[in-house]
Amino acid sequence: MDRRVFLAAGGASILTGCASTLAPPRRATTSPAIVPLKFDAGRLMKITVCLRPFRPNGPRLEVERFGARTVVHNYGHGGSGWSLSWGCAAEAAELAVSDGHREFAVIGAGVIGMTTALRLVETGAKVTVYAAQFPAETRSARATGVWSPSSRIGLLDSAAPEFADRWEQWARTSWASHLQALGTSGDPVEFLTQYNVAGGRAPRVPETHRFLHLDRRLADLTPDWGDTPLAERPFPQRFSRSGPTLVFNVSEYFDRLVRLFLLRGGRMVRRNFPDRAAVLALDEPVVVNCMGYGAKTIWGDADMLPVRGQIGWLLPQPEARYALWHDKVQAVSRRDGVIVQYLGPNDDWGYGNEREEIDPAETEQALATLRSLQAQQE
Ligand SMILES: Cc1cc2nc3c(=O)[nH]c(=O)nc-3n(C[C@H](O)[C@H](O)[C@H](O)COP(=O)(O)OP(=O)(O)OC[C@H]3O[C@@H](n4cnc5c(N)ncnc54)[C@H](O)[C@@H]3O)c2cc1C
Repeated sequence: MDRRVFLAAGGASILTGCASTLAPPRRATTSPAIVPLKFDAGRLMKITVCLRPFRPNGPRLEVERFGARTVVHNYGHGGSGWSLSWGCAAEAAELAVSDGHREFAVIGAGVIGMTTALRLVETGAKVTVYAAQFPAETRSARATGVWSPSSRIGLLDSAAPEFADRWEQWARTSWASHLQALGTSGDPVEFLTQYNVAGGRAPRVPETHRFLHLDRRLADLTPDWGDTPLAERPFPQRFSRSGPTLVFNVSEYFDRLVRLFLLRGGRMVRRNFPDRAAVLALDEPVVVNCMGYGAKTIWGDADMLPVRGQIGWLLPQPEARYALWHDKVQAVSRRDGVIVQYLGPNDDWGYGNEREEIDPAETEQALATLRSLQAQQE
């Protein structure tokens, strides 16, 4: 058995107990307390690119009237759509039912569309989801899948003064709903330990865009982090901070949303809307617009910007379930794969970049950074 695997499986205490009879380790710093993640490029299953639907003034969640037709907009959640989904879904559903209608069209089957549709169908209404792409094909399926409620959610100078309070309400409602999925079949949501490992060569570069960073408002919600005790450090030579992080196993989470929606009588129809007139021609009196970045052209939203992000997917490693952050690279060992992402020098990374072609060099570099961290321990 690999020495590190042995230690992770409980061998450390045996070694400690027999210290006088065993040879000391070659170097005290070569004994990570956890099973190493494997960052060989040969384990890559795929590379995906996603565009965050970013609006400098925050998500658009409001009613617009087109004659007798009501449109409830719920789009533009930047890098926080998974995290904020339930809070926004609850508010959108409330706006949609406020005129007393009982029949709704939800456009979009990403995380925003599916959570909104589920909240609506739970009121006993007749709900149809129309979408060009079904959940596994959407941009939402290409997300990192971690609790990140204020990631690229807006700009300080553009958001309305009351935005932070509204955001906090969405985040708190969402957090409570995510926790309800903990321990359910397939583990759509779970806590993993994340290690933020110090060091690295990437320089600190100040952001040119003044992003809203609101997480401190939720400090009471999330479990505490602390300095990782030396014996538990993944890389003993390097200082790290660690703590529990909420992870969304996106494939299973989507499965759960679709299952619940259909079980409660919802319908899903594949349809591509070429323009706004085609949406407004639907029979349902209320349309909920959850088109993500697709809303930019269909609803002529000039404020919407893409923020590109790319993820490399390595084979799942069920024996090593944790997350790492080091030198601007993040790795999360989810149930549907180990995902690795270069996060850039700051949140400007990918801003305004609409290129959806993959850049293999970016992923290779991210993997090389993590391999080099591991190599320094050997
Ligand atoms: C690299 C990356 C990592 C991320 N990581 C996280 C994370 O860890 N945590 C987090 O909370 N958020 C994360 N996000 C952000 C999150 O992915 C988005 O905010 C979220 O996916 C937006 O969901 P959505 O449902 O609005 O859009 P989408 O998933 O894009 O869904 C849009 C839906 O609308 C449909 N549609 C669009 N146009 C039309 C049309 N004309 N006709 C018919 N249907 C149409 C599409 O087919 C699709 O079904 C990340 C984003 C990126 C890019």
